[in-house]
Parts: sequence; structure tokens; C-alpha cells
Amino acid sequence: MGAQVMPCPHPLAARRSQFSQICRWVKLFATLISATVICGYAVAENLPMPRPRPAEAITSHSPQAADPENAATPSDCQIRLKRVAVASALPPIAGPGECAAEDVVELETILLPNRAHVAVTPAATVRCSLAEAIAQWVREDVAPRVRVFDSSLKSLDNYASFDCRGRNRVAGATLSEHGKANALDIRSLKLMNGRVVKLTDPELSRDFRESLRRSACVRFATVLGPGSDGYHEDHIHVDLAERRNAQHLCRWDVHEPDTDNVAAETPVPLPRPRPAHRS
Ligand SMILES: [Zn+2]
Repeated sequence: MGAQVMPCPHPLAARRSQFSQICRWVKLFATLISATVICGYAVAENLPMPRPRPAEAITSHSPQAADPENAATPSDCQIRLKRVAVASALPPIAGPGECAAEDVVELETILLPNRAHVAVTPAATVRCSLAEAIAQWVREDVAPRVRVFDSSLKSLDNYASFDCRGRNRVAGATLSEHGKANALDIRSLKLMNGRVVKLTDPELSRDFRESLRRSACVRFATVLGPGSDGYHEDHIHVDLAERRNAQHLCRWDVHEPDTDNVAAETPVPLPRPRPAHRS
């Protein structure tokens, strides 16, 4: 550290003045070198810690991260839905074509009053208003009625939810409520004991199917099932279509087991008359 100052040679009389000037320049140069080296060490020894980068400070106080006004504001429906279901908000649907919907959610799970969870499999893409209606139906009507099977409800089979298409998949037909995320098709329910309850199964308890049909037709604007139009023989369609005077359309024939056809195909011996019939 510190540069050595070159000693001046012994002065010669004839060149004394010139030599003195050279010496001054050498001293000045040496002084500059020394100062540079000393300052370098000083800077290295006393290097201050870097200040937090502005970007880090913005992140922790970022309006996007912390300001609720900039976060997606849940709709009133979504706030209500949160009490009875697990669902995540989706962006509005805009196309293709006429397909559109606002306030769309992905309905994953319905929460029963006893805190049990009923999964929607797979999760359904529907308007929040329909998700809320489905959740209330399952909580108040479906889950209690399933107890006749000595089990409890595990999941609801989502056969179709949002689907940008015409009614009954007919090309050129009026846009289906599915294209507005306003309909759900359900084929079956799954119970905790592993049983699968097919809603359109004629062998299933008629009382159960009748009861479910009545409750669905009160809650939903449209209910279509077997006997409605030939496209709903193996599932139930429910939607919240808006109609004049808020009319409901309820078409779900609760069929008896097809005993007539069985009798026609399989010869069955006639029963012997009972003694009581003789009297
Ligand atoms: Zn449908």
C-alpha cells in the first residue's frame, strides 16, 4: 500500500532547475497512485449493504397483491355459494358464436349441512345461479332421500355441463342452455357404500324417482328425462332457462319396470287361481 516516492538523483548544477521540475511531476504522479490505491481499499472495506430493490418493495406492498379493490370481486351469488359448496370463479364465457355466460364457476363439491362433502364428478362449469340451485337441491332434497338405500351420498355424476352446441346436439338447432352454462345433465349418484344409483333405472325404487322428480321440477325451470324427447332416456337434464311468466317445463316419465315386454318375449306360465279368488 502506498507508492514509493522515487528519490531524486544528486542534483547537478547545470540542470538543477529542470531536474527539480521532473521531480515535482514524479511526486505528483506517485501521490495520485497512492491516493487511488488507498481509496480503493477504503471503498472495499466499507462497502455499504445494498438497499432493497424498488421491485421488492413494490411486491410486498403491491396494489395487485394486497389491495382488495384490485382483486376479482366475488359476486353476491358467489358469496352465497361459498357457504354451501366449493367452487372456483371462472372468466366469463364469450363465444364461440352465441355461447356466452357471466358469473361462471367450476362447481367441485357440495357441502351438506352435516359437513359431509358430495363431489361433482367431474367438476361442472356452470353459472353461479345454477350452481347454487344444484347445491341447494342436493343438500335439501337429494341427500336426505338417498338414505332409503341405507347409505349416504358420495358424489353426483356430471354427464355434461357447459357445452357450446345446439339443443340435443342437432346442427342448426336453437342454442342449448348448455351453451349458456345454464344446464347440467346427471346420470347417476354414487353412494358411500359403493352403490351407483342410476336415476333413469326402471328397477330403482319408484318412490325415490318420483320424489326426486317432484323436487327437481320445483327447483329448476326445466327438467327433462325419459319420455321427454327421446334424447334423455339415460339421464336427467336440469336448467334455469328463462321463460315468459317463469313457467317450468317438467318432462320426466318415471317408468315402471318393463314387465310387458318381458312377458311378451318370455313365455310365462299363467298363475294358478288362488283359493281366495274363487270365493
Ligand atoms: Zn342437457
